[in-house]
Amino acid sequence: MVIAETELNAYEMALAQLDEAARHLKDLDPGILERLRYPQRELTVHFPVRMDDGRVRIFTGYRVHHSTVRGPSKGGIRYHPRVDLDEVRAMAMWMTWKCAVVDIPYGGAKGGVVVDPAALSLGELERLTRRYATEISILMSPEGDIPAPDVNTNPQVMAWIMDTYSMHRGYSTPAVVTGKPVEIGGSLGRLGATGRGVALCARWALERLGMQVKGATVAIQGYGNVGSSTGICLQDMGCRVIAVSDVHGGIYRQAGIDARELARWVRSEGTVCGFPGTEPITNADLLAMPCDVLVPAALEGQITGRNAGNVRAKIIVEGANGPTTPEADKILERKGVVVVPDILANAGGVTVSYFEWVQGLQFLFWGEDEVNKRLEEIMARAFNEVWRMADECAVPLRLAALMLAIKRVHDATLIRGIYP
Ligand code: NAD
Repeated sequence: MVIAETELNAYEMALAQLDEAARHLKDLDPGILERLRYPQRELTVHFPVRMDDGRVRIFTGYRVHHSTVRGPSKGGIRYHPRVDLDEVRAMAMWMTWKCAVVDIPYGGAKGGVVVDPAALSLGELERLTRRYATEISILMSPEGDIPAPDVNTNPQVMAWIMDTYSMHRGYSTPAVVTGKPVEIGGSLGRLGATGRGVALCARWALERLGMQVKGATVAIQGYGNVGSSTGICLQDMGCRVIAVSDVHGGIYRQAGIDARELARWVRSEGTVCGFPGTEPITNADLLAMPCDVLVPAALEGQITGRNAGNVRAKIIVEGANGPTTPEADKILERKGVVVVPDILANAGGVTVSYFEWVQGLQFLFWGEDEVNKRLEEIMARAFNEVWRMADECAVPLRLAALMLAIKRVHDATLIRGIYP
């Protein structure tokens, strides 16, 4: 049975993207290409956690390494009720491409636990995290595999993972995770790094298209780490955030929403909804909002064949991983919407994670200006390389970014050779 493209799951989507990029690349070794279609290793763990009422609950978690050819594997850990192995596989593959696009010496990994963390007490969350970290510690190490935050995980969760790993070792091992609090070896600038990179890409895309950055209107789906830091950076660049949504609903104000005040509101209220001076909207309204820049910064599979026709943004800058399905990509291309793809747009997070890891290995820490300057240099180089590839090959930016990344990983694999 042929599956409609709108029904592709995240892994099928990632494979479809790989195949499409491979079709455009000449001189790929078919054996190496086949290798890149599979994760290198996958770990599934089922583990017990004692809940506050004394009962024991069993949770399921994953850690997948897609590739370790260009360096240790790197990728976030997601806590979400809908996490499954295929989603983790897809995100691990996207991490491989992302690290290659920005040309940092990492392979790709991802992890996840099937859980709704909002339903756990802080103590339960800590016990779950420490036990999951113990279960995946057979794969994790500063030289081998370095986790980071993703949806519903944060610096505190990274601190528990780092502490658990360090307790097993008998000494502190800060470089085993990134996205840690600064107090225990985190990097200045890491918390807002993904959003900063997204905002820079939005600015450069506006400039390339001859549009004004000052006063450009922005709609953001998801106002967690990535969405809020993107909103704040874009506001600081002079853009106007007019609509924001999250899992509970959305808000709209044509005159502009104060991105910083909204972040404070979300910290105290747990949602963007009800922010004073705004009108309520739905997530569907947000994705169809007339604006210059739309930033999906929630989950994958949000802009699909069903709703891409409604998009009225001129530019989409993907803060989230995999927010646009391949079918939606085709519709957006026909409509002339420029899509700055996830593996480029949200690579600021892994880039500063790389800085954090380097600082942790050297026990030598940089100032925030240094971090931001180096981040901008790396993002600018990658953005320009992808834009040039898109121009030269007359392909959309996603395909160009994938082609650039896949070629780099392919070549590295070929040079290293097939063991034994
Ligand atoms: P987060 O948990 O901090 O925030 C997620 C946001 O999305 C929340 O506002 C939530 O309410 C909203 N959301 C969830 N489901 C939604 C739905 N169905 N409709 C609308 N909004 C919804 O997560 P984050 O770290 O900001 O990650 C967001 C995305 O960015 C993910 O795709 C993640 O993989 C990607 N990403 C994160 C980082 C990072 O450094 N944190 C780096 C690169 C990519």
